[in-house]
Amino acid sequence: MAYCPECGAEFRVGIRRCPECLVDLVEELVDPSLYDSQEENLVLIKAAQNSDEAKKIKELLEKNGILCVVEKPNQVKAPTSTGMMHVLVNQKDGLRSQELIKSHLG
Ligand SMILES: [Zn+2]
Repeated sequence: MAYCPECGAEFRVGIRRCPECLVDLVEELVDPSLYDSQEENLVLIKAAQNSDEAKKIKELLEKNGILCVVEKPNQVKAPTSTGMMHVLVNQKDGLRSQELIKSHLG
């Protein structure tokens, strides 16, 4: 069985392309929930001092329709930053996010 990564349609083996989306089919469909949010080009836009600040930033961005991810920084790379939280957004939203944070949260 082959699947279209765009629309998720199933095709029998032998078909290589989705006639609707004109994209190559894949053997296995990755969890579709991953498509919209994660796994895109996430960039770090703000290192918040604590999870409260991170939450404020997240709320601000989401209010403006920007999807963001809050995560603990990699402790191996940044061992001293205890309590800090990194806020990441899709690369395409990076500039707008920084402007929003600057004008709303100082
Ligand atoms: Zn398709």
